Amino acid sequence: VARYQAQWPLIGHELPIAQLTAALNAGRLRHAYLIAGIDQIGKTAFATAFAQTINCVSDSGRPCGQCRPCRLIAAGTHIDLTTLEGENEDGGYKIEQIRNLSQQLALRPGEARYKVVVLRNFDAGINTGPAMDAFLKTLEEPPPHILLLLTANNPNRILATIRSRVQTVNLRPLPAAQIRQALQGRDLSEEQLALVSQLAAGRVAWAINYIQDRDSQLWRVEQLALLERLLAMRPTARLSEIEQLQRRDDDELAALLSLWQSYWRDALLLACHAATPITNRDHRHALDQIARHAGPDGCLKVLLALRRTLQYLEERVNQRMTLDVLMLDMPALRLLAPPPGYQPT
Ligand SMILES: [Zn+2]
Repeated sequence: VARYQAQWPLIGHELPIAQLTAALNAGRLRHAYLIAGIDQIGKTAFATAFAQTINCVSDSGRPCGQCRPCRLIAAGTHIDLTTLEGENEDGGYKIEQIRNLSQQLALRPGEARYKVVVLRNFDAGINTGPAMDAFLKTLEEPPPHILLLLTANNPNRILATIRSRVQTVNLRPLPAAQIRQALQGRDLSEEQLALVSQLAAGRVAWAINYIQDRDSQLWRVEQLALLERLLAMRPTARLSEIEQLQRRDDDELAALLSLWQSYWRDALLLACHAATPITNRDHRHALDQIARHAGPDGCLKVLLALRRTLQYLEERVNQRMTLDVLMLDMPALRLLAPPPGYQPT
């Protein structure tokens, strides 16, 4: 009898869910999994749904979402569910954390069938040394009734000896329509819903965080305004403006360049009359003007300059020089404000 169903309380990720459901129904549960996928794609939510599935007490259709284990796990209050995060400064796991973990794992579950431990961002920090050796030992002699769920943005940063002992589950970005579905029932206008589901680029957790985070929303508005202001400036004025940019830390500068990249990708899409929907829908009026003025070649030139700048930033090449080149590669254009009542389509 198929006890487990492929309907998890999640949107998207149908393929990995179907594969895990089939394995569970065949009685092939492994003791450790690595849930891999880009930042904020929903790995922890996936781990939670997995924990519900294996601890659900319904006679059919697990996870049911209704029984006591399902509800407590969803609420994060089940005594047999532990979520850990590396406590080293670089985000890595401390040796004491792993020792505590093995002690905890030696005990039987309090009430559920399986004790589940979610080890978030297992690829963070230094991934060799005593903590990882201790963890390897835990993986080699797994106690029964244990499920370890590691999450990682970049599984290649995890020791190969660890990776070979866990089963990897790859999560892929969701289509914009599914992100939209995940945001249903929240207090958003149609326009906001359309914008956020495009901005999210397939990352559910990102979308949910973003709509609750005024600072991030404001930051985006300011950085796009800055970009549009720069277009209208003379080269010398641009160069003095980017003096300011350099005072930002590398992470923020990288985020800024990625945001601008998405903006210029939109301009390129419009310049090419592509059918692909643009990301920064709320800037459609300005983007249309840029696309007309710069054309596909002009947009592509800026996109390539942005990519090069991001790359240099990663390689820590002289920031100032690369930003200067970027400024000079941008076309000069005074943007007109949208007419009153303008509706982006
Ligand atoms: Zn249940």
